Amino acid sequence: MSKEGSVIPKNELIEAINGYNPNADIKLIEEAYDFASEMHKEQKRASGEPYFLHPVQVAGLLTQLNADSATICAALLHDVVEDTNVSIEEIKEQFGEEVAGLVEGLTKIESIHFESRDDYTAENLRKVLFATTKDIRVMLVKLADRLHNMRTLKFKSPEKQKLIAEETMNIYAPIAHKLGIPTFKGELEDLSMKFILPKEYEALKNNIDTKRGAREHATTEFIDIIKTNLSQHNVDAEVYGRAKYFYSIYRKMKRDSKDFNEIYDLIAIRIIVKTIPECYTALGVVHDLFKPMPGRFKDYVSVPKANGYQSLHTSVVGNHGKVLEVQIRSEDMEHLAEEGVAAHWRYHNVERDKKFDKKIEWLKQLLQWKSDANAKDFIETLKIDLFEKEIVVFTPKGTPISLPEGSTPVDFAFEVHTNVGLHCSKTEINGKMVPLDTLLQSGDIVNVVTQNNASPSRQWLKFIKTSKSRSKIRKALNIEYDHDHKAARKSELDDNEMSEAALLDLIKTDVKKKSQMKLSKCCGPVHGDDIVAFYTKDGKVTVHKADCPNIHALDENKKVEVSWRLKGDEGIVKIRAMIDDRVGILSEILGMISQDGISVCSINSNTHKERVSVTFALRLPENLEPEQLVIKIRNISDVVAVEIVN
Ligand code: MN
Repeated sequence: MSKEGSVIPKNELIEAINGYNPNADIKLIEEAYDFASEMHKEQKRASGEPYFLHPVQVAGLLTQLNADSATICAALLHDVVEDTNVSIEEIKEQFGEEVAGLVEGLTKIESIHFESRDDYTAENLRKVLFATTKDIRVMLVKLADRLHNMRTLKFKSPEKQKLIAEETMNIYAPIAHKLGIPTFKGELEDLSMKFILPKEYEALKNNIDTKRGAREHATTEFIDIIKTNLSQHNVDAEVYGRAKYFYSIYRKMKRDSKDFNEIYDLIAIRIIVKTIPECYTALGVVHDLFKPMPGRFKDYVSVPKANGYQSLHTSVVGNHGKVLEVQIRSEDMEHLAEEGVAAHWRYHNVERDKKFDKKIEWLKQLLQWKSDANAKDFIETLKIDLFEKEIVVFTPKGTPISLPEGSTPVDFAFEVHTNVGLHCSKTEINGKMVPLDTLLQSGDIVNVVTQNNASPSRQWLKFIKTSKSRSKIRKALNIEYDHDHKAARKSELDDNEMSEAALLDLIKTDVKKKSQMKLSKCCGPVHGDDIVAFYTKDGKVTVHKADCPNIHALDENKKVEVSWRLKGDEGIVKIRAMIDDRVGILSEILGMISQDGISVCSINSNTHKERVSVTFALRLPENLEPEQLVIKIRNISDVVAVEIVN
C-alpha cells in the first residue's frame, strides 16, 4: 500500500481491529464505515481520489495504536459533520453519545480556519487546544488525521504546504511526543521537514541513501550476534534495528554540532523479551558481548518515567568501534512505549489497570505520614503525573510551552529562558495584567515583562511549580539558601542528639586514637557527607567536607584517608532525609531506593514546620555502601539533608 493509501476495504479494517480487540463493537464500526462512505460519496480529495479514503486511512492509522471502538468510529465519521449535511444530533442518534462527543470535538477543531499567519499563531491555537482537552481520544484522531493529511500534502499549493507543515512541526509533533507516540511524532516531523527545510531534507536523504546499505549490513550483523547469544541464554527475544527519523538526525546534528556520519553511524537496536528478569539477562548478555559506555546505562524498568515508560537503555561499543544504542524491554512495556497514552485506556478493566491501581494503593499505604486529605491530593496529582497531564500555554508569538499543571507565570518565564525568569517583573495573561502567582490554564497566552534590575524573590519559592524554576531561584538566592540549609542540618543534629564524639566514632581511619580527631567547624560535616581529613600542626586530624573551600589551603601531603563507618545491625541501615514537603518527592526517593535491590523495612516521619523528616529503615545488598545511597538521595531536588542514623 502506498503512503497516501487507498480505501481500505471494510473487511481488512475489521480484521485489523479484531487482531487486538476481540471485544470491539464490530457492528457499530461497520455502520460508521458504511455511513461515512455513503455521505462522502460525491466528494473528491485534492488528489482526485474518492474523499472517503481519507477517513478510512485515519481509522487505519488508529488501529496501529490499538484504538478502541468509539475512537475508530469517530475517525471514520470525523469529517461528515464538517463536510456534509449530517448534524451532531443525527450522529448521536445513530452511534450514541460517546462517538458523537468525539466527533463534535473533532468538528470543532476542523471548523477553525487559519486565515493568515497572524491569526494562526495564538488565538486559534488556543481554541484548538481548548476544544481537545476534554477527551484525549479527540487528540489521537486529530493526530492521525494530520498525519494522513501530511502524507498527501503534495497535492496542496506551496503556500498551504508551508503553513500546514509549520503548524505540524510546532504543534502536532510536540503533542504526539507528549502523548508518547513516537511513530506519529517521527513521521510528522519528517514530513514537515520536507516542506520547511527542503534543501536540508534532500541533502540528508541523499546521504542516507548512500550509506543505507552499509549501515543495514552492520545492523544485521549486530542483530545476529545478539540473537545467537540471547538464545544461548534461553532468552526468547525479538531483536531489531530501530528506524532513525530524518528530522531527529538533523536535530541531533544541529544540537551537538556533529556531522552526519557521527550521528548516522550510531546503530539503534531494540530487544523485546517476555519478562522483566529477561530484560536484565539480556542486558547482561549485551554488556558481556560489547563494552558498555560509562554513564549511559539507564534503568527505567525499576524506576519508570513519570508517564509510565519502562525500558533499559544502554550504549555499548561494538566491533570496529561502532556505537550501539540498545533499548531492552518486555512486550508489555513495548506496548506502552509505542502506543503512549492510548495504552492507558486500552487496558481499562484488564490486567494493566489492576497493576496501576495496585501501585496507587501501595503508595497510599506509604503515605500514612500525611493526613488523609493530603494523601488524597497526592494520589490525584500522582495520577496526573503518571498520565503526564500537562498544560500548554503560548508565548505572544504563539510558541507553545508545556508546563505541569499548577504552573505560574514565573515557571513559564524560566521555561522560556533563565534570564527571562531571573528578570521577570510583571506578567500579562491573555492581555490582562495579573499577579506572578496566577495559575496558568491551557491555552493562555503569557507575556512576561522583564526589567534589568528585577531579581527573584524568596516569595516565589512558595508558589512556583517546576523543579527547574525552583533550582534557578535558589541558585540566585544563594546566600539565604545556604543559610537555610545549614539551619536545617543543625536542627537535625539537635534532634538526633548526635554529639561530635558520636560522629567521630563513626569515622573509619587509620588514626589510632579517636580523641585526636575532630570535625572542622568551618564546614561541619555530618554522617554521610563526602569527607577528607588532614593532619594539623599539633598532630591531630581534622575532618572536612570534601567541598569545603578551606581545604585548598591545606597540604595534600597531610591528607588522611577517612570514611564513614557503617553501624548497621543485621544489615539494616536507617537513613533520614529532611525534605521540603512537595508532591511527588517521596515517590522519587522511594524510586531511588528501590534500585539496586534495596528493600524498605519501615518508614517513619515527623513534620517540622514546612519540612518533613522521613526515616527509612533499609536492608542493603552486600555490595552497596549506605554512603552511596545517601549521596544519590541528596541529589534529588528539595531534599535538604540526608544522614545515616543509628
Ligand atoms: Mn480529516
